[in-house]
Amino acid sequence: MVKIESFGSSSAGNSYIISCDDSSLMLEAGIDPKKMNEVNWSIVKGCLITHEHGDHSKFANKLVQCVGFDIYSSAGTLEALSVASYRTKRLEADKVAKIDDWQVLPFLVEHDVSEPFGFLILAPDGSKIVFATDTYFVRKRFIGVTHFMIECNYALDILDQNVSAGHIDNGRRKRLLTSHFELGNVKNFLNSNDLSQVQETWLLHLSNQNSDEKRFKKEIQAITGTPVYIA
Ligand SMILES: [Zn+2]
Ligand SMILES: [Zn+2]
Repeated sequence: MVKIESFGSSSAGNSYIISCDDSSLMLEAGIDPKKMNEVNWSIVKGCLITHEHGDHSKFANKLVQCVGFDIYSSAGTLEALSVASYRTKRLEADKVAKIDDWQVLPFLVEHDVSEPFGFLILAPDGSKIVFATDTYFVRKRFIGVTHFMIECNYALDILDQNVSAGHIDNGRRKRLLTSHFELGNVKNFLNSNDLSQVQETWLLHLSNQNSDEKRFKKEIQAITGTPVYIA
C-alpha cells in the first residue's frame, strides 16, 4: 500500500515522500531535510525534482550531502541546479527509468522554465501515481491511476476578485494563467482521465491568496468520488 506524506506544498517550499512497504521515493527538494524529522532516510531510493525553481529544489545540494541516494531530473533542470553531477541522474521525457523497485515515466509539463517534468510513478506494489505541479495544463492522459498528486493553485474567480480589489496586479495574473494549474483546468484534466482505480487525490501548491481549501476539496471529491487531501 502506498503512503503519501507532504512536508510542504506551496511557493514557500515543496517536498513529499511516497512510501510502499520498506521503500520510499522523495519528490522535490524544496524543504530543509533537517526539518523532515519523521523520514526514514535509509529506505529512500532517490529524489525526483520537477524543475529548478527554488521552492522545489533549493535544498538539493544540502540533501545529497547528508543522504546516500541521488537526484533525478531533466537535463534542463539539472543544468540549472548546482548539484555535483556524480550525484545526479538525467531523466528523459517519455522514457521509463527504474529506481530500485520503482518505475518512473517523466513527461513534459507547461511552466516558465526550460524543461519541467511531471512524473507517472509505478510503485513496487503496482500502484500508479501521477505527480504534476507547477503547470497550467497537462497534455498527457493516464489509465488506471490510483493516486493523483496534482497542483490546484488557484480558482480564476478568486484570482479575478483579488485583481479587481487591487491585491494582485495584472502582470502577476498573466503569469499565473500561463504557469500554474487552475481549479477548472484541474477538473477538466481529471474528467478526461480514467478515474476507475483512483484511491486518493492530493491537491498541491495551493496559493495563499487565490485558493479556498474547503471548496477545492469538495469540488474535486465530487469528481473522483474518493478521498481528497490538501497537501
Ligand atoms: Zn512552485
Ligand atoms: Zn515553479
